[in-house]
Amino acid sequence: MDQYNPFVVRYHRNHGGKVLFYTYNNELYAPTFPEEWAKDFKPETGPANCSDCGTFGVWNAAFLGYCVKCAEKYNGERGNGFSFYGKEKEEENKNSAFNTYLKDVDLYEIGDTGIFDTAALIDEIQTYEPGHQFCQQEEDEDEEEEKVEWSIDRDADSICIFGINFDGGDDSN
Ligand SMILES: [Zn+2]
Repeated sequence: MDQYNPFVVRYHRNHGGKVLFYTYNNELYAPTFPEEWAKDFKPETGPANCSDCGTFGVWNAAFLGYCVKCAEKYNGERGNGFSFYGKEKEEENKNSAFNTYLKDVDLYEIGDTGIFDTAALIDEIQTYEPGHQFCQQEEDEDEEEEKVEWSIDRDADSICIFGINFDGGDDSN
C-alpha cells in the first residue's frame, strides 16, 4: 500500500523541524539544493555518477553541489563547482552556489553527521601541514568508519579549506 518510491522527495528534519536534508532517488541532498536539478542530472554528473561530485560535492552525506568538472557541463548555471569539501571554486559568477541556493546556509547545520561528519574529516586534515601532500595510509583501524580516501594533488588553492569560510567571501589570502 505504502510502497517506497525513491522518486518522491522526502524531507528529513531535526527535532526543531528544521530541514537537514532531503532524499530523492536514494541520495541525500542539501535542503536548498534545487529539487528540479536533483531530478535532472546530465549523464555522469552528480553524486551517484561522478566520484568527484560524490566526494567534494557532499557535505555531511548530503549533496551540496557539483564538482568543478561537472559544473562546467552546466556552463556554470548550477554553480562553480566544489574543489574541496564545502569549498566552491572561486570565480565571478552570479550563479555560484554560495550566491544562490547556498547563500546564508550554515553547512554545520545540514546533512547527517551520523552518516558522515565532514567537519571532523576537515579537522583531521587540518592536523596536516598545509601544502603537505598526504594520503590516507592506515587501514582497517576503524572498520566501521566510512572509507576515506585523500588524494590532494591539487594546487595550494584547495588548502584554503583550512581557513574555511562559508560566507562566500574571497578571503583566501
Ligand atoms: Zn562531478
